[in-house]
Order: sequence, then structure tokens, then C-alpha cells
Amino acid sequence: MSEERKTIYLCLAHMSEDGMEQKYVKEAFDTNWVVPIGPNVNAFEQDLSNFANSKTDNTEPLDRKVVCLSAGTAAVHLALIACGVQVGDEVCVQSFTFCASSHPITYLGAKPVFIGSEKDTWNMDPELLEKAILDRKEKTGKYPKAIVPVALYGMPYRIDRIMEIADKYGIAVIEDAAEGMGSRFNGQVLGTFGKFGVLSFNGNKMITTSGGGALICRNAEDVNQIMWYATQARDAYPYYQHTAIGFNYRMSNVCAGIGCGQMTVLDQHIAHHKHVQALYEDLMKDIPGVKINKQPNDPRYDSNYWLCTMTLEPSVKVKGQENAYKEVIKTAVGGAAGVVHQVDSPTTDCQPNDNVEAMRLFMLSKKVECRPVWKPMHKQPVYADAVVYTNGIEEDLFKIGMCLPAGPYVTDDDVRYIVDCIKEAIEL
Ligand SMILES: *Cc1c(COP(=O)(O)O)cnc(C)c1O
Repeated sequence: MSEERKTIYLCLAHMSEDGMEQKYVKEAFDTNWVVPIGPNVNAFEQDLSNFANSKTDNTEPLDRKVVCLSAGTAAVHLALIACGVQVGDEVCVQSFTFCASSHPITYLGAKPVFIGSEKDTWNMDPELLEKAILDRKEKTGKYPKAIVPVALYGMPYRIDRIMEIADKYGIAVIEDAAEGMGSRFNGQVLGTFGKFGVLSFNGNKMITTSGGGALICRNAEDVNQIMWYATQARDAYPYYQHTAIGFNYRMSNVCAGIGCGQMTVLDQHIAHHKHVQALYEDLMKDIPGVKINKQPNDPRYDSNYWLCTMTLEPSVKVKGQENAYKEVIKTAVGGAAGVVHQVDSPTTDCQPNDNVEAMRLFMLSKKVECRPVWKPMHKQPVYADAVVYTNGIEEDLFKIGMCLPAGPYVTDDDVRYIVDCIKEAIEL
């Protein structure tokens, strides 16, 4: 049986059944809009705005506007600039995340202040955030310039508390909802609470444009500023005149065509991710030492479950675990990495437990792609000198956590197979 199986990948791009993406892309060619501007970009921005402004509780819709960009990373970068982040400034950012949340802070010569996670959402702990804000003020004389919470694997952060704290100290919030497209808190879409909200349309995200991102903005002034910076920051002269350093970050009309097509299946995708999560929850409820991660039991949380995650207690014995980390890996695990630096040692001073690595390898031998959860940024060598405020929760989760396949390509049968494989991997 396992011989005939195709690999079940963690999360794959999935086009609409009726080929809407190709229709819009073809239109871009037919009308000669093969540039980073045009009707698909406008339409995609309108669709995204409608999506962002929708509420599930029938109250007044919001009035947010969305700017499409070349990547989610570009969106973080421009949001930081628009929040006035400059050389030497500090920015509070969730440590438990993908590097695109924090790297743009360093692009600007600013410094990340890493904030640890809370147990139930795995996201930015509001208590630690406030502690960090006060301590930075005392140590540097300045408040951090921005706060970047991250919807890890789609899970909503405690945005009510975070906004309360941000408002108290007058600090802007940039929501990194790259993984949380369609997740809601209190019926409101993530990315619409702060000054800016980041979306990503990379190949593995909730929807894709092959590569791309967007910023949810609060007003026309912010939209203008973001668009100006995204198109090389030009002044109104017949020639190119610049009074600021800009970027080439606008989305191409071809990619936006894919986005317009993907918007027709966004709701379906979100529903499928939630369905897969529910199935995992049901099938995994009584495996000793193994836990599927769930959103808090609080009706305000509505996660899109972009990726499903589980934790393995250290006491769980996994087949082959005595051989974990014995060999140096030749390629990076996961992601479309073009070039990966070769390393000398198979281990680092902060890594998933042996049973987790053994589980990953066992699942791979069964053609199921599982991955460790994000390694906390404050444990990354490149951030060795960064300041961190943590209770160690994200470090503990990194040792025991693992991402499971999710998304439109994962069938009910796949989930049953994956859970059977997890059970098979455990030595009783
Ligand atoms: C994917 C992602 C981004 C942005 O990524 P791009 O690949 O540049 O679109 C930002 N933050 C997080 C947490 C992400 O997962």
C-alpha cells in the first residue's frame, strides 16, 4: 500500500477546479498588462479588501484597504518603514516565528526585541510584551517603535490584550498574519486590528500567487505611502526625481491574476484546513504522550489551521530514535531553498528532541512530509546578540513540536493514514 502512495506534502498550492487563475493570467497577456500594475492588481486588491472588511457577526463591515506587494517579507519591510522604524530603533517581535517576521527589522538597521510565547496560543505573550516595553524604556530611554505579533500556523494571537498594551504606550502594531489569512478574533479578520496587517501568497500559504504578499492598511494616506515606497519613491517630475529610498516591491499583474482566481476558492481552502484539523483532533485523541495542538476553548478564537501541529512528550519512544541526528543532512528540510549552506555537525545546541526527529524520519519513510516547528529567532545564531524576554515556552515547544500535512490536497484518507503511521512509529 505505502509503495503506491504519493508523498503527502506539508502544504501545497492548490488551484481552483475551473481554472480561474489561468483565465485571469491569460487576460493579462491578452490585454498586454504584463507589468507590476493593471486590472488584475486592482481587482485582487478589491477582493482582498472585501475579504478583510467582512465580519462574521453582522456588525458594520470595516473600511480597510489592501496594497498588493511582491512578497510578505516586502510587506513587513514597508510596514516597518511606514511606522517610522529607523537605524537604532527597537521593535518587539514574536520570537517563535519564521524569519520573515524579524529580518526586515535588521534590513533597516533597527534591532529586534524578541518576545516569548504563551502556552495556549503559542503566540506573543502580552505579559512579556509589556514587561519588555517597560524594561526597554528604562534601559534605552525610548519605547520600541512597533510590535509584531505573529499568527503562528494560523492561530490568532491575543490581539485584544496586545492592542490594549500598544495603545497604552502609543506603539504601532504590525500584525504578521502571513500564516493566518482568514483566521479571525471575535469575528474580525486578523490583520485588521493593528496599523498594518501582513499577508503572504507564497506557494505554501493559504492562497498563492506563486509568490507575493499584501499589506492591509487603515486609510488612504497609508495606502499612498506604501505604494510610493513600493514603486521606487518618485517625485512628480518628467524625469526620475527621488527624495527617499524606495523599493521595487509592487505585485505583477500576472501574479495578481493567479490571486484573483485563488480568491474564488479561499473560503473552500479555509474550510478544508479546519476540516483536516477536526479529523486529526478526533483520530489523535487517545495516543499517549501525543497531542494535537488546538485553539483555546474560547469562542473568540477562529484559527484557519494553516498547518496542523502536534507535540510529542519526551517519554514517547519512537522507532529509530537512537539513530536520530547521527548523519549530517545535505539539504535543508522543507521550503524552496535555492542554496543551503553545508554544515559540519548534524546537531546544534537547540534542536527538536530525538524522538521528534525520529518521528520526522519515520513519517518520511512512509511518504509523509512532517517538519519541526519554527526554531525561535532568539535561538538563531544570527540573532545571538539580540535581546529576549521569555519564559522559555517557545524553546520547550520547539523541542517537542511538529507540523503535520494540511491543506486542500490532504484527503480524509490521507489523515487516517498519517495518524496510523504516527501510531506505528511509536514503540510500546
Ligand atoms: C511566509 C511568512 C511571511 C512572508 O513570507 P513571503 O514568503 O515573503 O511571502 C512572513 N511571516 C511569516 C510568519 C510567514 O510564515
